Amino acid sequence: MTVSDLGEHALLARILARLPRPGAQILVGPGDDAAVIEPGRNHRLVVTTDALVEDVHFSRAWCRPADIGRKALAVNLSDLAAMGATPRWALLSLAVPGALPVEDVEQLTEGLAALAQVHGVSVAGGNITRSPGGLVVDVTVGGEVASRRWLTRSGGHPGDELWVSGTVGAARAGLEMLVAGDAADASCIARHVRPEARVRLGIVVAKAQAARAAMDLSDGLADAVRKVAVASGCGALVSGEAVPVDPAARRWWERRGVDVLDSAVAGGEDYELLFAVPPRWGGRLRNVRRRVATPLITRIGVLTRDGGLWLERDGHRHSWPEGFEHFRG
Ligand SMILES: [Mg+2]
Repeated sequence: MTVSDLGEHALLARILARLPRPGAQILVGPGDDAAVIEPGRNHRLVVTTDALVEDVHFSRAWCRPADIGRKALAVNLSDLAAMGATPRWALLSLAVPGALPVEDVEQLTEGLAALAQVHGVSVAGGNITRSPGGLVVDVTVGGEVASRRWLTRSGGHPGDELWVSGTVGAARAGLEMLVAGDAADASCIARHVRPEARVRLGIVVAKAQAARAAMDLSDGLADAVRKVAVASGCGALVSGEAVPVDPAARRWWERRGVDVLDSAVAGGEDYELLFAVPPRWGGRLRNVRRRVATPLITRIGVLTRDGGLWLERDGHRHSWPEGFEHFRG
């Protein structure tokens, strides 16, 4: 049965049946004209939105509907993590082609709902509309952070060290494997299809005041370093040898004879976090890492007083690579 066969009202009922029961903060939840949400006392509201568009962000050829729904929420959770905010609620807006099987919408909802449950996120409302083209999954997420404890891109100072969580490059390598039809490494493919946002790491870093600036790596390390440096009014010097390239991604690029470091820093969708940390706060960051059991947080470079952006490799300084840009062909 397709979405057109079933019709909007019955489809909505099937979606609502699959959402987690809203938390106590949701005074009026899905089914009314708008949601009513009780904000936490002494906290500030942090809101973000991001859409996944078929054939721009995902292909239904290799993303299961449940993974599409899950990822649509995960990318937003990553943005809240970068601000140090605890996610609380989400709004889900779907533009659905009429020919899409109803089962796909059900599974998409279940994928999103499962991740929402893990992080205690209530789906407070949403909207469905018919799409004349591909599937669009648009998610807005709201969270909260204690007054003045939020992290921004612009908080860095010259001399702050740049630290990155986890490894970089795996999601891009995974996407390249899917496009090439060569499932060389399941972990890389999983990083593209089922990304994990560093929700707890971002929250604890902000609470512990263990970083002065932060950003998530949704568009890659090259993009994040540039944006944090520019927003902070600094330059940056990054050591290529220090960049924690995912080992399986490294093998993939070595086999194909392409530059490993260039591919890893330009590649998007890692959903790791980049932090700017004054040298004397390094101990706080290591404590946080132990508390949240993040496998890896690596110091990769430093913010500098001059405005230059540099990548140091093989004893030479190279200009910092351009990152991924959505409107470039
Ligand atoms: Mg982001």
